[in-house]
Amino acid sequence: MNNLPKSYLERCTNEQLLKRIENLPFNGLEELIDIYANQLKKLKSSGTQEKNVSSKFKKKPPAKELPFLLEKMRKSVDKFLNLEKEEIPFCNIAYFGADTISVGGPSGLYHYSRQLIEVERCSKKNLCWLLAHEYAHHVQFSIMNPPFLSQNSSALPELELSTNLQYSIFLEGHADGVARHVSQRHTRRHSFSAFAIPPVKRMYLTLQYAKKEKLSTKEITDHHDLGNLLFAYLEHREGPGIYKAMVHGEYDW
Ligand SMILES: [Zn+2]
Repeated sequence: MNNLPKSYLERCTNEQLLKRIENLPFNGLEELIDIYANQLKKLKSSGTQEKNVSSKFKKKPPAKELPFLLEKMRKSVDKFLNLEKEEIPFCNIAYFGADTISVGGPSGLYHYSRQLIEVERCSKKNLCWLLAHEYAHHVQFSIMNPPFLSQNSSALPELELSTNLQYSIFLEGHADGVARHVSQRHTRRHSFSAFAIPPVKRMYLTLQYAKKEKLSTKEITDHHDLGNLLFAYLEHREGPGIYKAMVHGEYDW
């Protein structure tokens, strides 16, 4: 039996997801925390030798550059998820408008009804995982057909989903996993560790919070945290191929 905190399992109502994380053949949180702590340590130590490349990725790009950045991340996500032959609808991108309330820190939204990704103005190093995460939502809504969409197709999923935990845990855990792997690939390609630090750190902190039973106090973001937590277990057991398998229908909601 795994040692996932009971309070979180009780809140996850996705039967398929729960079935997959039952009876995990390892001791759970401690082991996962070690894995992500080591990844983070490695990324941070290589970061000290990358001063020369860092300035070009530290700048906040102008709005007109966003479509090119999204195109780069789209290619990476499509490759990771084996979607290169699929017809994914076009997705627009913009910075948040003046009326959007910032939640602090780099953040983004995917609007299903407008096929639009909106992101906060931030540096290229943060845009890497942010765009990969939001584009992963675009893929989910374009080809995975989340069951609730039939009744609610005009809603803004990122907001609407906060009341629909069953699906949001799945969608956010999946999108965060995709963003983490794609950012790690970019890190290797550009020899720039800062691309992968935010998503790996996010996973590490989520696991630490879970260990201290503190996740439930973070109400606004808990579908991300719960998703990360459950996907950390699932990925550890079944490997990073789960993200691709889910997109290609080898998984029930
Ligand atoms: Zn999201």
